[in-house]
Amino acid sequence: MARPSQALIDLQALRHNYQLARALAPNSKALAVIKANAYGHGALPVARALADLAPAFAVSCTEEAMELRAGGIQQPILLMSGFFSADELVLAATHNLWLMLENQRQIDQLVAARLPGPVRAWLKVDTGMSRLGIRPEHAATLYEILKNSPNTCGEVVLATHFACADELDNDFTRVQIERLTAIGRKLKAPLSMANSPALLGWPESHGDWNRPGYMLYGATPFPHPHPEADKLIPVMTFASRVISLRTLANGDAVGYGATWRATSPALIATIPVGYGDGYPRNAPSGTPVLVNGQRAQLAGRVSMDLITVDVSGLEGIVPGAEVELWGKHLRVAEVAAKAGTIGYELLTRMPARVRRVYEG
Ligand SMILES: *Cc1c(COP(=O)(O)O)cnc(C)c1O
Repeated sequence: MARPSQALIDLQALRHNYQLARALAPNSKALAVIKANAYGHGALPVARALADLAPAFAVSCTEEAMELRAGGIQQPILLMSGFFSADELVLAATHNLWLMLENQRQIDQLVAARLPGPVRAWLKVDTGMSRLGIRPEHAATLYEILKNSPNTCGEVVLATHFACADELDNDFTRVQIERLTAIGRKLKAPLSMANSPALLGWPESHGDWNRPGYMLYGATPFPHPHPEADKLIPVMTFASRVISLRTLANGDAVGYGATWRATSPALIATIPVGYGDGYPRNAPSGTPVLVNGQRAQLAGRVSMDLITVDVSGLEGIVPGAEVELWGKHLRVAEVAAKAGTIGYELLTRMPARVRRVYEG
């Protein structure tokens, strides 16, 4: 039998989540953000599953975009960091890659380039994140340059990105919205602002194009219950099985460093999942793991290929019992919080060693 650890990917849930993103902002279009291998879910299968719903996709670089083109994806693909070297401009013009331009150098290079045809350009404005984007006071001039260049076609969309949209009581999001909409009003430009938390929690940020990523994978960006986010269905279930069981006496230690000790007779289950599979090594003893549908607790350090779980007192614990590391019954965000990180990171960094199995 093969190693039983795999990531089950529910493509029906993915479509449900995309449709929820659309329903929450019925007057906006929604780019499906599938950068970083669709947050670990597999960019091509995810794009194929959304191909009849999403008018366009968004990724971070031409390598990611060309993988989609090689797989037959025909929608426009927005490159959210623009381009890194001028030779990518020909690729963009040839393969209908849209460019989110974020600095004057990129704009100068685009305008000066000799291209086989025009490209769609978006203009990213830095409204307070201080990471990418031109300064608001330069927006009008650069917008006109882009609009009037024969190397661009179609409407130039004005875009920005939020720093704090997952904090629903943080007024900084309102400040960022107002900065972009003020420019948009003057230039009569279409707008794109919302990521997942803004799409879910800041209706005033909905523009002509929204850019949901994380929520498509069924994870909530909020640390608290939320009426809309709670309708999302987790797409990935990181599943495995118990491969070994042992009974410990009071005082017996478990794992590297002998950091966990039985304080009474205990039943320990070993599961073939470790940090080599993307399970976070800094998840402490006590991190929840579902075994045969019941909550159990990680016991001892995470190894490269294995973890150990205290299953004392649980029912139906036999070799082969089903395990969920995260998924529909145990939210990735809960495991991530125990490990001092966010669900985004655990999903995105899951290595290729974990086989993706697609359903639906
Ligand atoms: C990743 C990204 C998104 C999507 O953000 P989520 O929080 O995953 O929805 C949107 N816009 C930009 C510019 C991004 O880099």
